[in-house]
Amino acid sequence: MYAGLKNTPCCLCGRDDTHTRIAVPPRAIRLLKNGGPISWRDVVGTVTLRFCADDWDLVSDLAIEMDTHPLSRCNAAHVSLDLREDHEALLSATKEETDQTELEARLEREAESTLDAVDDPYTEARDVVEAIVVLRALEELDVRDPPGDPVAP
Ligand SMILES: [Zn+2]
Repeated sequence: MYAGLKNTPCCLCGRDDTHTRIAVPPRAIRLLKNGGPISWRDVVGTVTLRFCADDWDLVSDLAIEMDTHPLSRCNAAHVSLDLREDHEALLSATKEETDQTELEARLEREAESTLDAVDDPYTEARDVVEAIVVLRALEELDVRDPPGDPVAP
């Protein structure tokens, strides 16, 4: 089903030599630079962002020290994703919008459990950065309530 990761350059500077990658929910494409034309509802699985070593340092600082994400500066043309249309062309499947909420709920749970275990020596810094990016992005997209805010009725 999932065709696998394509080798994409650093989504911040376009350099081919990348260091680290993270996965974000397809809806986060809306936050990316040039993400507008991409039909995020047709994306199958997660979207992969790769960063070169220099930019990974920057992304880590943004996430861990400033509690924010770099997505508005990431170029959507440089991310790895799998569009449903590709499969439809192959399989002639009927067109039906992919329900992204299940995937988003799973990524949210995983991110929360990573942050719950942030002091665990086995928790990797990469995972913490990914968790912060995922959660802050979901909040910005109104999929998730920001921490401390009252729960919407
Ligand atoms: Zn870079």
